[in-house]
Amino acid sequence: MKYCKKCGVLYTTDVCPKCGVLKPEASEPPEPAPQKTVRRQWIALVIAIPATILLILGVLKLLQLLQQS
Ligand SMILES: [Zn+2]
Repeated sequence: MKYCKKCGVLYTTDVCPKCGVLKPEASEPPEPAPQKTVRRQWIALVIAIPATILLILGVLKLLQLLQQS
């Protein structure tokens, strides 16, 4: 979700629907958008991998505890 400071509208497209219609020339160049997406994917990856490992370890620990009892 992006936030347009001019109209205060939340939007998911590359350009603000209101500003994009009124002004075809975007103030921001189109290049930074993919970089943000890549960075977001990297952050998700960095968070998802340890989370998955912890989840697997947790399940294994739980199975060990269930077998011991
Ligand atoms: Zn706008």
